Amino acid sequence: MEHTYWKKLVEEKKDEVIGKTQELLRIKSVLDEENATDEAPLGEGIKEALDYMLNLGESDGFVVKNVDSLAGHIEMGEGEEIVGILCHLDVVPEGDGWSSDPFAAEIRDGKIFARGAIDDKGPTMAAYYAMKLVKDSGIPLSKRVRMILGTDEESNWRCVDRYFQVEELPALGFAPDADFPIIYAEKGIWDFYVQQNTSEAKLDGEVNVHHFESGRRFNMVPDFAKAIVTGDLHTIETKFHEFIQRQDVEGKVYQEDQQIVIEVKGVSAHGMEPKKGKNAGIYLGSFLSAFELDHQAKEFFTFINEYLLEESRGKKLGMSYTDDITGDLTINAGTLHYSKETGGKLGLNVRYPVTYQWNENEENLQKKLEELKMNVSTVSHSKPHHVEKDSFLIKTLSKVYEEQTGEKTELLSIGGGTYARSLKAGVAFGPLFPGREDIAHQKDEYIYIDDLLKSTAIYAQAIFELAQ
Ligand SMILES: [Zn+2]
Repeated sequence: MEHTYWKKLVEEKKDEVIGKTQELLRIKSVLDEENATDEAPLGEGIKEALDYMLNLGESDGFVVKNVDSLAGHIEMGEGEEIVGILCHLDVVPEGDGWSSDPFAAEIRDGKIFARGAIDDKGPTMAAYYAMKLVKDSGIPLSKRVRMILGTDEESNWRCVDRYFQVEELPALGFAPDADFPIIYAEKGIWDFYVQQNTSEAKLDGEVNVHHFESGRRFNMVPDFAKAIVTGDLHTIETKFHEFIQRQDVEGKVYQEDQQIVIEVKGVSAHGMEPKKGKNAGIYLGSFLSAFELDHQAKEFFTFINEYLLEESRGKKLGMSYTDDITGDLTINAGTLHYSKETGGKLGLNVRYPVTYQWNENEENLQKKLEELKMNVSTVSHSKPHHVEKDSFLIKTLSKVYEEQTGEKTELLSIGGGTYARSLKAGVAFGPLFPGREDIAHQKDEYIYIDDLLKSTAIYAQAIFELAQ
C-alpha cells in the first residue's frame, strides 16, 4: 500500500475528522472527584467522553469494551497479537486567560483551540480515524488492533492500572501523547523523601530558623522559598543583599511580628532538567547555612548547600551517571521543608538513565545518608522504559514517518514519563511535530488542522504496517 493512499483517504474524510474532533473537545472531561459516583468514578465529564468514544466505535462496527468506567477499548481485526494504541480522554483544568471558550473548539487560523486539542483528544481522534480508514479499506490484518482509552492520565493513572489488571497487555504499540518522530527511551523516575533524624533544636545560634518552606511538587523546580527566623535584622539584610547579587536571584528581607521573613524568588522549570530553572529553596537553604545556627538546623542547611547547590547531577551524593541512550541522571529538589520541631525534609525527584542500576544505588544512597543522620523513604518509583532501536516496532514506525513526512526519523530519548511506558514494547509517537511549540496544559491550547490530518495518515499507515 503506497503511503499516498492513506493521505488520499484522509483528505476525503477531512471534514468528518475535524467535526468529530470538535465534538469530543466540547466535552469537559476534567477530573471531578467531588462528584464521583460508582458509574462515573472520575466525574461526569470524563464518563461522557469515554461513552462518546465507545459509542462512536460501536456505531462504526468496532468491538468496544468499558472497563469500570475508568478505561475502555475499541478493537478490530483478529489474531493472537495485539497492536495497542494508548490514548487518554481526560484533560487538565482549563485555567485562566483563554482567548475563546476552552470547550468551544473554535477554529481560527487553521487551528482548533480547546483544552485537550493536542493533549490528548485531538490525537485520540486522529488515531481513531486511522483505525477506521484501515478497517474500511477492507485489507486483511493478521493482528488485532486495539485503541485503549485511559481517563486518568493527567492525575493518577488509575485508568491503565485498572485496565491492565483485567485486560491483556499488547505485544507492541504506540501512544500518540508526546512528540514526533519517536520517543524510544525514557528515564526511570524515582521520587523520595530525605528526612532528617530530629535532635533537639536549642535555638542558640546567631540566627534561629523557625520555619523554612519551598516547593509543592516533586517534578518542578520551586521558584519561591520563604524562611521565618530570628536574629539581627541588619546583619541578615546585609549578607542577604550580597548573596542575591552573587547568585543572581531575587528576594527580600522584612520584619513581621518580632520575626524576620526572608524570601527568595527563583525560576521554575520542569524537574526533568533542573538546570533550566533556579531552585529558590536551595538558594535560600544555602544562604542560611552560612550562619552560626543551632546544631540541627546547621546540619540540614549545610546538607542543602553541600549536596544540592548546583548539583543537579548528584555528583557529591555519589549518584552521577550517564549513558548514551538517555544521558545524565538528574536530581531535583522539588520540596524543601524545615521546622525546629520536625527537623528537615526534602522531596527529591531523580531521573536516571536506562542502564543505571537502581537497586544497588538506592542502597548506597541509603547508607550514605544514614551517616549524615538522614533517612530515605520512597514515594514512587517507575522503572526506565526503552525499546531496542532495531526492533520491528521502531523500524516500522521510522519508515512510516519518513514516507509520510519526507523527513528523517530521529529517535528521541527523554527524562519525562509518557503514557507509552504502560505498554511492554511501546513508544510515544506524535502528535507534536518537530519545531512546533509545545502548548499542552497552557491557555489557548490548540492543534493545527494540518497536523491533525497529517497525523491521521501517519497513524493509518502505521496501524496497517504493524498489524499486516
Ligand atoms: Zn497527555
